[in-house]
Amino acid sequence: MKRLVLLGASGSIGTQTIDVVLQHPDLFEIIALSVGHRIDVLQKILEKVDVKVVCVQAEADAVKLKEAYPDKEFLHGDAGLETLAERNDYDVLVNALVGFVGFMPTLKAIETGHDVALANKETLVVGGKLIYEALHKYNRSLYPIDSEHSAIFQCLQGNKHSQVRRLLITASGGSFRNRTRDQLKDVTVEQALAHPNWSMGAKITIDSADMMNKGFEVTEAHWLFDLDYDHIDVVMHPESVVHSMVEYVDHSIIAQMGSADMRLPIQYALTWPERYPLEEKKFDLTEIGTLHFEKPDTRRFPLLALAYEAGKKGGNLDAVMNSANEVANAAFRKGEIPFLMIEDIIIEAVHKAPFREVNTVQDLLDADAWGREFALAYIRKAGEK
Ligand code: MG
Repeated sequence: MKRLVLLGASGSIGTQTIDVVLQHPDLFEIIALSVGHRIDVLQKILEKVDVKVVCVQAEADAVKLKEAYPDKEFLHGDAGLETLAERNDYDVLVNALVGFVGFMPTLKAIETGHDVALANKETLVVGGKLIYEALHKYNRSLYPIDSEHSAIFQCLQGNKHSQVRRLLITASGGSFRNRTRDQLKDVTVEQALAHPNWSMGAKITIDSADMMNKGFEVTEAHWLFDLDYDHIDVVMHPESVVHSMVEYVDHSIIAQMGSADMRLPIQYALTWPERYPLEEKKFDLTEIGTLHFEKPDTRRFPLLALAYEAGKKGGNLDAVMNSANEVANAAFRKGEIPFLMIEDIIIEAVHKAPFREVNTVQDLLDADAWGREFALAYIRKAGEK
């Protein structure tokens, strides 16, 4: 029996993790979980999952919940997330938080001797170096939940890392893959949120529409699989059937295929090296018939090129890229800026940021704050024009 702490339980990955756990009550038990502000979703979760401890974002919610559930313990805020991660009565932290807020709980979990199943890619984009060092120092494992990285992880099984030639990360191209840059000028939030293949949370769906998400996934792969950026390629693949591939030195390419359903990567991250049955959408290659692959156009998707640039230069630039994106992405969703301004903000933030090495958590927090302030100032100035 694996005991889990689940962070971000009310989101898309969180609810699907609960579904996987409920399909295998003999394998997994969730002992603690967190949600942000969605208390209605939490109440539904607590009908199905009996946990001892819950963390919510607001203190007022924690107080009210304690009255409704006197037998449970309620924590709150970012400190509460870290307290959950540091508990000594569980085996694997499932991190399904969205954004940089996921970094500290991941680090704390590793430092207190836990393995992590990671859906929070921002953890590795921002703090990949520190997480990488902590994993080696504390001899812990990180299992990818992102579908592309789960695919790569599966394609690596039984082969030698030294014989990998390159990773091929597939990209659907998101909601606007058939539009020119000219046609992107006036797109709405609703249009951006309608992803053709995957049903995901709002932030990542926007990140997919401008391909910041794919750029993040390149960085994520760099840290997860210990390969330099010249050995990580992106391939456009609109059907989202091949979830990613690994090419070996003999040019053999191994691909992982399946339906666009996150429950497989979630389950595999929790059961590796074993496989278990999973009730999933029916997947039939003969119904799909044809698969397409193309080179990405980095002029059309400049944020993909930016992620390579920031990753190769290293230091604080990945953290700046991430925090500028968090602000710009949220501003677009609130209708404050047009879609293409997301790119302008992030590119300018990375190019204007004074370069700094990152050796400590404080260095990361400084870089994160710099990117946030830069993006907010940019948006304020744009609003005054
Ligand atoms: Mg992905």
